[in-house]
Amino acid sequence: MKKKLYMNRTLVLAIVAALILTLMFTMLVACNKNQSISDDVLSLYDILATFDDTTNTLTCREELCYINRESETLTELVFNLSPSAYREGAKFSPFLDSEKAAVYYDDISYGGISIESVNIEGAQLEFTIGGEDENLLIVPISAIATGKSLNIEICFTVTLPKCNGRMGVTNNTVNLGNFYPTLCVFENGAYETHPYYCLGDPFFSDSADYLVTLEMPEAYTAVSSGVVEESYVENGRRTLEINSVKTRDFAAVLSKNFKVVSDRTNGININYCYISDASPQVALATAKRAIEVFSETFGDYPYKVFNVAQTGLNSGGMEYSNLVFINSTLKDAALEETIIHETAHQWWYGVVGGNQIKNAWLDEGLTEFSTAYFFRQTNNPERYSQIMAQTLSNYAAYVDFLKTQNPDVSSDMNRTLADFTTQGEYVIINYHKGALMFASLLDMYGEKKLNKALNTYFNDNSYQIATPQKLIDVLNTYCKGSDSLIQSWLDGTIIIG
Ligand SMILES: [Zn+2]
Repeated sequence: MKKKLYMNRTLVLAIVAALILTLMFTMLVACNKNQSISDDVLSLYDILATFDDTTNTLTCREELCYINRESETLTELVFNLSPSAYREGAKFSPFLDSEKAAVYYDDISYGGISIESVNIEGAQLEFTIGGEDENLLIVPISAIATGKSLNIEICFTVTLPKCNGRMGVTNNTVNLGNFYPTLCVFENGAYETHPYYCLGDPFFSDSADYLVTLEMPEAYTAVSSGVVEESYVENGRRTLEINSVKTRDFAAVLSKNFKVVSDRTNGININYCYISDASPQVALATAKRAIEVFSETFGDYPYKVFNVAQTGLNSGGMEYSNLVFINSTLKDAALEETIIHETAHQWWYGVVGGNQIKNAWLDEGLTEFSTAYFFRQTNNPERYSQIMAQTLSNYAAYVDFLKTQNPDVSSDMNRTLADFTTQGEYVIINYHKGALMFASLLDMYGEKKLNKALNTYFNDNSYQIATPQKLIDVLNTYCKGSDSLIQSWLDGTIIIG
């Protein structure tokens, strides 16, 4: 017997949900008929994931209604398999050697992904596991023309390692980040493929719609991307039916120990799911204020929910659409700034995508700047100045240090994740130098012009993939002459100090 937890929902909400599901159903029908589909409809991932906490496995079925939005006919689909990096013997570990002792809190633990079958329209297909490190699922398909669609079903099992990682079982949570095969972005006539890198966020995807059914032992609750449409317990198992529209990805965190505080602003539900926090209302208020301030400054947050979840994690935080992971050891100013940073990623990464492998500064630099800018926008210019002064000091000290080792040290920002050799170098170049660049534009052109430019950048690139050139062009429109200045920051010729 299904036990609905949301019996008191208003009729209006029920009608809205029904309309959305009807739209998605219509899309699936269209998908099956290989019909042309209007431009504003995105591909749809329909995922059923069943969690077994005795084996730490996720048994999954993913049905992707794929719409070819490229300008050419495609004859294969290529998916990124991020979970593969957690397997024993992986060439590209998700973790630095220096962090493994803390990450593997119990003992070394491996995970991975096993693809069991791939079907299109009911016919089982041959597939290949390829890439530099078994990181790709390659599926040959019948030619699919621009604007046409197909249904592909992938059955797979994910083994979750015991670790404080984006994907893993921690002491208190089950982190489900990047756990499913994700279609690679098709650009310039080819799929953008890459292995997992332990530095940065090695993820790059198109926006899509998601219908996800998460099933788990009753003792767990879950927080995720998207809106929970149904939640019920049956035969000792909890099921959530989740609907996520126009998001960059889908992620979730499961826990037996979550406590939740909630608030609401501008029609958006804000939830803070925590394990241990003496003042959870403070974190909740920070998330709420960040959503409000960035909505006012950059453009409205376009979703109905924003979730902040405390987890075991090897970094301070991690962004997913509608959901951010926050390291459960953070407190005070570090907790506050991490929540603001990850919330800013909802704009720069979530709604406005970018190639995080080739142009990490594009979202991290702007996000780091936005974090400091939040304080200036909330009548605390001293805190903004203090953060930027510290950022400049960190950057200058690091560059001085590098110069002692190599006088020709590069501060070029146009680098891929593979080009960075240390965590410090990655952070200093993408976060700190990126933030300093935006701060210099603020100093030179003022808030009004910069806000107008960033608001336009946000609106023009919503649910799409931005590029450095797109950002430079829009900045140059409102901040005349800034293109050459930005170029000198990017190529490392600017003198800072
Ligand atoms: Zn970030």
